[in-house]
Amino acid sequence: MTNNSNRPEVILIHHTVSSRDRTSFSQVNEWHKTRWPNFISQLGWHIGYQYVIKGDGEVLQARKEDEEGAHTLGGWNRKSVGICLMGSFDHENPSTAQIEALERLLGGIRQRWGIERHQVFGHQEKWATKCPGKNMMTWVRGYRLNEKSEVVEKPGTIELSPAKVGMLKQLKKLNLQVIILGLMLQLQKLRNSLHKKK
Ligand SMILES: [Zn+2]
Repeated sequence: MTNNSNRPEVILIHHTVSSRDRTSFSQVNEWHKTRWPNFISQLGWHIGYQYVIKGDGEVLQARKEDEEGAHTLGGWNRKSVGICLMGSFDHENPSTAQIEALERLLGGIRQRWGIERHQVFGHQEKWATKCPGKNMMTWVRGYRLNEKSEVVEKPGTIELSPAKVGMLKQLKKLNLQVIILGLMLQLQKLRNSLHKKK
């Protein structure tokens, strides 16, 4: 364990208190940079959450899951994954795309860290704040209770790393070489039999 490591036991949901559809990742990064200029994640961002979900459902990672966060006081930054949705959910609702992305993301994080459904909380349940807004809190409470809508990451969404892609290319090459070798052997056999006939 290094000084700034994180061992997630819970997942904490936040909102940006800004426009759901008009807040960008770089804007959020700038806000955090102003407040904590020297706190930079291993991925190179000032954002204190592990993940940010834009209004259109795009998920962006700002911080590694096993890296200390900067989103919830009270010791939680070293035992939680922080997810922030763009929006101001006392006044607007999260978009369907955001909720779908959030469910998928929660499914993956819970699987990786063995976190139960009832260990997903809104920021306000761990610290005196209104974050993530009453509309988002309604969803969070429902998520904890609704065992039926268990979301598992679809097999099709598994991404190939550059290393894996390289390995597959190598395998294809190897395969081709084996085929060519086979053809050459066949040709040799054919030649041999032709010679014998002469
Ligand atoms: Zn918050």
